[in-house]
Amino acid sequence: MPDIIQLLPDNIANQIAAGEVIQRPASAVKELLENAVDAGATIIKLVVTDAGKNLIQVIDNGKGMSETDARMSFERHATSKISNIDDLFHIKTMGFRGEALASIAAVAQVEIKTKRAEDELGTFIEIENSAVIRQEPCATQTGTIICMKNLFFNVPARRNFLKSNAAEMRHIVDEFIRVAMAFPEVFFSLTSNGQQVFHLEAGSLKQRLIQILGTHYNTRLVNVKEDTDYMNVYGFVGKPETAKKTRGDQYFFVNNRFIKSAYLNHAVMNAFDEMIARDSFPMYVLFIDVDPSQIDINVHPTKQEIKFEDEKVIYAFVQAAVKHALAQFSIAPSLDFSLNADIQSLEAVNRPATNETLNNVTSSNLFKTFVQKNQAHKIDPVNKSELNHWRDFYEPSGKPLQPLAPDQTTDAGQTSFEHEVITGPALQRGSHVLITDVAFTQIQQAYILACTTNGFILIHQQQAHERVLYDRYSQAINGKSMPTQQSLFPSTIELGAGDTILMQELLPDLHTLGYLIEPFGLNTFVVQGTPADIIQGNEKMAIEMLLEQYKHFSSDIKFSRRERLVRCIARQQAIRPGQSLSQREMTTLVNELFASTTPNTTPNGTPTYIEFKNDYLDRMFGK
Ligand code: ADP
Ligand code: MG
Repeated sequence: MPDIIQLLPDNIANQIAAGEVIQRPASAVKELLENAVDAGATIIKLVVTDAGKNLIQVIDNGKGMSETDARMSFERHATSKISNIDDLFHIKTMGFRGEALASIAAVAQVEIKTKRAEDELGTFIEIENSAVIRQEPCATQTGTIICMKNLFFNVPARRNFLKSNAAEMRHIVDEFIRVAMAFPEVFFSLTSNGQQVFHLEAGSLKQRLIQILGTHYNTRLVNVKEDTDYMNVYGFVGKPETAKKTRGDQYFFVNNRFIKSAYLNHAVMNAFDEMIARDSFPMYVLFIDVDPSQIDINVHPTKQEIKFEDEKVIYAFVQAAVKHALAQFSIAPSLDFSLNADIQSLEAVNRPATNETLNNVTSSNLFKTFVQKNQAHKIDPVNKSELNHWRDFYEPSGKPLQPLAPDQTTDAGQTSFEHEVITGPALQRGSHVLITDVAFTQIQQAYILACTTNGFILIHQQQAHERVLYDRYSQAINGKSMPTQQSLFPSTIELGAGDTILMQELLPDLHTLGYLIEPFGLNTFVVQGTPADIIQGNEKMAIEMLLEQYKHFSSDIKFSRRERLVRCIARQQAIRPGQSLSQREMTTLVNELFASTTPNTTPNGTPTYIEFKNDYLDRMFGK
């Protein structure tokens, strides 16, 4: 038998490795933008066509590369950013793995033009399937222009896996925004299919955020800034009034690297505490700078997760910093929330360090230095039970807006309904049926109690309504459209560039669902009409919330775009607990619920009602 193990050819090894780094056009965008930032560029232009599937081009005025470096940069593990293992713990650049260009060259057709300031001529290289096709001197400006064409042209399986242009474009915009936020001193632009989507002049962080998130934040940002010897937190949080009903503009950066952290998110949520409704989400863009030795950015190739040496300290610090900021700007002077302890401790944090503690900073871990340096600073022993609940903040929750549709029972012929017996499929199984000539009882403005021939059921009004709306909108989107009622006072909505793209994508489907929304200028839309059964008056907010919620669910690849939209709208418009219902409204709701083919759950599978049978009740009472 011959030996069977062989070394993979370079191009295949590179293709496999590329899978980790380049999952979609947006991953390449991120890597290329970060390279431009690392190269010290002050002007960075991103150009894409077909959501990057066709072309991704990054033009920078950074330091460029020599001929040899340009050639080397496409080798795997070729980097100028670290040279030994210790360097890993002092990373100041965005990149360090030396994998990005090699990966890109393995899965796309790449052309690069690059020149250093000191060189007269630059270098042009064309590379495909990890092989250099052409290399020659060329005339070009100082900096680098890198073009990446036909991503995954040689890996059809991956190319087929890409989503719609609109979806991929959203990912690109996300990555673009994250880099652009972290480097406001750099000019960034994004052009998509010949149209400029972003044009971000260099400026302050605040200016950058307003450019990206919208001018309505202009007077609604609160500055956060707390510095200590080894850790700084700075950035902005939105005033409580800007809190949205769904998670929207929330960004953490650690050493300028965007990260996702449900844990730190909880710290900010806690700082807002009583100032915003429990079910709303504040805007924040917070930068945490720590000594690179205190974090491990090596956890994940796409580097969105991060390990802190001691995340409890970071948690307490972030929370205190945000509380402090909110208090200083006396956003809510009348609100009684316990600030003093935190503020005092923050002053302690700011006290100059002694030599001894400075030594500690350099030698011991973050937690120790934090505690020793600030004897007075008592880090809130973060409430255990609170911590257990931090995940709750990441659970999607329905945030309905609209009250129950106005009575539809007024139609002739339906009024006698209250004295009929409904037999929904789910309640037909046993011998029992719903009795409707006994009045329904609303409990805690959240549940409806209804008698059956065999006990009673407790209906969750919001979840029941979500089911009803879901059925209605599903039918609409698959068949005849919902009637629209013209808005008496059409409202305009101004969106950020990313949301504009999303909105354009959703417009046709929204129309089918009864929303008449028209583009009006670059980033503005006019709401001309809403579904006929929606109470008018808050269209703007409803639509903004819808977009937020849609984005929140957009990672759910199980569902088509329409399905997601229908789910979002149903969830959003379901009556919420706290809404008291008339007898007639309850009847309509219960009637419609049991007309559904699946009355017993919401589209997500949560129960809409619970059934209490007599024999079960008897047993509970020891009978
Ligand atoms: P990494 O960024 O992790 O070092 P990359 O594969 O992204 O790895 O890039 C490899 C090297 O190529 C970088 O270390 C850098 O020296 C050089 N390089 C890449 N892009 C640029 C650019 N836009 N300008 C100047 N040098 C660049
Ligand atoms: Mg890089």
